Amino acid sequence: MVRVHPCLPLSQVNQIQVTLPDGSQRTLAAGAPVREVAEGISPRLAQAAFAAIVDDTLVDLSYPLQKDARVRIVTDKSPEALHLYRHSTAHLLAAAVTNLFPGAQCGIGPATDEGFFYDFIVERPFVPEDLEKIEAKMKELASQDLPYERQMWDREQAKAFFAKRGEPLKVQLIEEKTEGQKEVSCYTIKDPDTFIDFCVGPHVPSTGKLKAFKLLTTSNAYWKGDARNAPMQRIYGTAFFSDKDLKAYLTQIEEAKKRDHRKLGRELGLFTFHPWAPGAAFWMDKGTTLYNILANYMREVLFPAGYVEVKTPLIYNKALWERSKHWSHYRQNMFLIEDAEGDTLSVKPMNCPGHFLLYSSEKHSYRELPVRFHEQTPLHRNELAGVLSGLTRVRQFSQDDAHCFIMPEQIGEEVERLIRLVQRVYGDFGLSYAAKLSTMPDDHLGEEATWRHAEQQLKEAMERAGLEYTINEGDGAFYGPKIDFDVTDAIGRKWQCATIQLDYQQPENFDLHYIGADNAEHRVVVIHRAIVGSFERFIGILIEHYAGAFPLWLAPVQAIVLPIADRHLDYAARVRDRLKAAGLRADLDDRQEKVNYKIREAQLQKIPYMLVVGDREAAEGTVSVRERSGGDKGASSLESFIAIARDEVASKGQLAAAANG
Ligand SMILES: [Zn+2]
Ligand SMILES: [Zn+2]
Repeated sequence: MVRVHPCLPLSQVNQIQVTLPDGSQRTLAAGAPVREVAEGISPRLAQAAFAAIVDDTLVDLSYPLQKDARVRIVTDKSPEALHLYRHSTAHLLAAAVTNLFPGAQCGIGPATDEGFFYDFIVERPFVPEDLEKIEAKMKELASQDLPYERQMWDREQAKAFFAKRGEPLKVQLIEEKTEGQKEVSCYTIKDPDTFIDFCVGPHVPSTGKLKAFKLLTTSNAYWKGDARNAPMQRIYGTAFFSDKDLKAYLTQIEEAKKRDHRKLGRELGLFTFHPWAPGAAFWMDKGTTLYNILANYMREVLFPAGYVEVKTPLIYNKALWERSKHWSHYRQNMFLIEDAEGDTLSVKPMNCPGHFLLYSSEKHSYRELPVRFHEQTPLHRNELAGVLSGLTRVRQFSQDDAHCFIMPEQIGEEVERLIRLVQRVYGDFGLSYAAKLSTMPDDHLGEEATWRHAEQQLKEAMERAGLEYTINEGDGAFYGPKIDFDVTDAIGRKWQCATIQLDYQQPENFDLHYIGADNAEHRVVVIHRAIVGSFERFIGILIEHYAGAFPLWLAPVQAIVLPIADRHLDYAARVRDRLKAAGLRADLDDRQEKVNYKIREAQLQKIPYMLVVGDREAAEGTVSVRERSGGDKGASSLESFIAIARDEVASKGQLAAAANG
């Protein structure tokens, strides 16, 4: 390493120039650590610095600058920072574990989207008290502000070192990850026991930078995720730049546990699963009601917007998938079957190719376009059993799927209409959302000019619809640009839902055309689009968004009649029948239980309205209205309750949003 000797006159020192993000330049001695760039800008920046980016490479602050370079200092405001911060916390975890459990072997410890984990081979599984002790040790090491030091080791020496320390997994990692290298990098945390780990880095400069972390759970793991390998113990944790952010996250995961749709789905009697139908829900009566409400709601939205509903086959000959190119790109996700003649067929994983065949079964004049097919039939995708989870990862599902067949000059107008539909639907569910435009990737098909023209039309459509968006440069599919929508639920989690996807390629594969005013054939553009996406997944999101307390328009049971005594049963049944006749989903609890018990049960079932009826109500033709939140609204005539409930149903999300706001 070239370090400047203090005795050398400045004129003899090689100088280098660094260029900062604002274009300004600084001169440093060659070999100076990149930290000095931050120090030269301001002491505050030096204090806030975690790492740096030198010519597009993320490096430690100790990285020596040997030649002219572009330099950006990474602080907690930088997009790269959290990942590096969490990975550094994983090292701190490993340092604490090896300190407290001598002989523990370290596996890998990456950062994740939610935090970090580290895998260990230990003599016995970790217990909750271990986590407390480990976390306390981590805090102690953090308070000592120990430096993370990058050391370059001779590769063979490093292997011998870890072998001698009884860490064969690290030896294996070095062998696999650094083939052909002479040197490998290792990081120490200079505590008195000097934790050292093979790692490419980079890391925060010292443990004192790690301000807010928490160990969460442990689980069984295997070396490299393979059950044939050594069993390991994984410790999960998370880390944030501030205690405030950490607390907010911990509250969110607590809240998420309470709202888990798998738990609520069981408690509310919506759906269940059986191991003999992996990834396919059994919808109970209330769940089926909810499903149908959603499916019909989408029809109500789409029919006035010019869509027609179609039903296409579920099973197709493999020839179709060869034409659509799914056979070469997607076969591993398709369920294949054989018919009586020995032909190979597949259950459809998506509707598009069926819609293309349907579109081509007739001639279409330019006057008919856009043609919009909507379909809700079930789709099947052959997901690995290990990744299936509740309603959010399933093998069988249906979508509010549609394909719009348009002329190229209709792109802007059609996309604007689609955006307005998305805005309306998310508004009805009280979901906030963010849009991102993904543009032409490197491996695109088709002319660049066509792409840029389409992207421009998408941008203008979003602007006309008043939709704010971000751009994912180069992230479009190879066949066309797209707009994706992330919705944010009530506890701040993001879910990817709607997508509006332009496709220039399938119209070629399927020779999809229309007859123009000139009587000649012209190529259509296809828009694939879904608003809620998979109904299964969307219901999972809604259950967690509302914590199972659906607004009136979605609640499978909207009102339950609770007679106080058996002698009120007749009147109660008449009330229920009147509610049903008025189009409300009503139930009657005719069990011989105390009314307070029935109220409690109805609250647990999150039924929006409980209508208690006794002597006075029966005599006066009224109901005593209680809300699930515990509010007692007093007596009301049956007819005025019905009118209020119908208004509330009609207002969907708007009323709920106003009540919450
Ligand atoms: Zn590391
Ligand atoms: Zn499609």
